[in-house]
Amino acid sequence: MNPTWCMAFPTGYETGTYLALDMGGTNLRVCEIVLTDEKSEFDIIQSKYRMPEELKSGTSEELWEYIADCLQQFIESHHAGQKLESLPLGFTFSYPATQDYIDHGVLQRWTKGFDIDGVEGKNVVPMFEAAIAKRGAPIKLTALINDTTGTLIASAYTDTKMKIGCIFGTGCNAAYMENCGSIPKLAHMNLPPDTPMAINCEWGAFDNEHKVLPRTPYDIIIDKDSPRPGQQAFEKMIAGLYLGELFRLVLVDLHDNKEVHIFEGQNIDKLRKAYTLDSSFLSLVEEDPFENLSETGDLFQNKLGITTTHPELELIRRLAELIGTRAARLSSCGVAAISKKKGYETCHVGADGSVFNKYPHFKQRGAQALREILDWPAKKSSKEEDPIEILAAEDGSGVGAALIAALTLKRVKEGNM
Ligand code: BGC
Ligand code: MG
Repeated sequence: MNPTWCMAFPTGYETGTYLALDMGGTNLRVCEIVLTDEKSEFDIIQSKYRMPEELKSGTSEELWEYIADCLQQFIESHHAGQKLESLPLGFTFSYPATQDYIDHGVLQRWTKGFDIDGVEGKNVVPMFEAAIAKRGAPIKLTALINDTTGTLIASAYTDTKMKIGCIFGTGCNAAYMENCGSIPKLAHMNLPPDTPMAINCEWGAFDNEHKVLPRTPYDIIIDKDSPRPGQQAFEKMIAGLYLGELFRLVLVDLHDNKEVHIFEGQNIDKLRKAYTLDSSFLSLVEEDPFENLSETGDLFQNKLGITTTHPELELIRRLAELIGTRAARLSSCGVAAISKKKGYETCHVGADGSVFNKYPHFKQRGAQALREILDWPAKKSSKEEDPIEILAAEDGSGVGAALIAALTLKRVKEGNM
């Protein structure tokens, strides 16, 4: 659990122009956000740059140079020929970081398959700033934030019932607002106990000791073959990066098991390649009407060169359902844990990420699990809201990052840390 130095919910009356940078797994997104005078309103322009795959296992230097180039390019294309005063920037860095203040962050470890040398254990802010300074770009890093904190703050900007921000995407995690008096890591700072502070839970690292959750042999292989074995135990059972791989590992194991007759006599070399199937493949399988599963048959044929029988297709489908359902139900355990800890009986939870937004039935399965864990009485009608609802979030790494930059500048101006 990491204190984030994001120390307030927005009021809705924040204003100003901000840059936001989101370093995600597949894209690098740069945004310019104007928080307008109208309550809870904003304008946004953005550009996306592809995050080259090689960069994820390249050098630290290459990473920061690439990021700075994208920012530079954004400024040049949107403000050509203008003399700009330096713009405050919120940098969404969605990895676990230890922060002593808001424009500081020591990367604890890479997650989500990243493996760049020379960054873990270091403060990423000076590296970022050096690359920016080299180009003379008019940018001032104001806040380094986690995507979950951004999601929490962006969602609370338009809906004051939002108390938790979650990401169910390539990785998974959540943030919520705590009181400083309940944060042992900050005890030495003697902050007023009722001062709010957002906590980045880093729940992906839950049960790294493997004492709570039962693991399948496939979970163990995923961990062992990852760049950071022993890390992100919970995340490796839930997050989008791993769902397709879990599915693939089970199918290969069933094929190789002499007692199970599946894909008999067929060449499954394509299926043997690690990480060939992503969670969008699983989504397609789960979306296919169960009556004939012809779409799934085509997928196996075209992508993997495997001809399937109808019983095989049914097994494939059930397997996808199991993996998708486990992910959704475990995700809700995290939401339930925070709600119980804070005593939230009713609230909204803002969720973002590819799995939440695109994976079939993820929302319903998650809601059903929350209902079971928190033991709510049956709904009187299907229109009735659940006491705790997980809803689609506002844009955390764009608007959320801008809001946190705005809140930080306000805090500095008022002379609070
Ligand atoms: C990271 C978190 C992040 C989450 C969602 C995890 O791998 O450790 O910091 O919030 O992914 O992007
Ligand atoms: Mg993101």
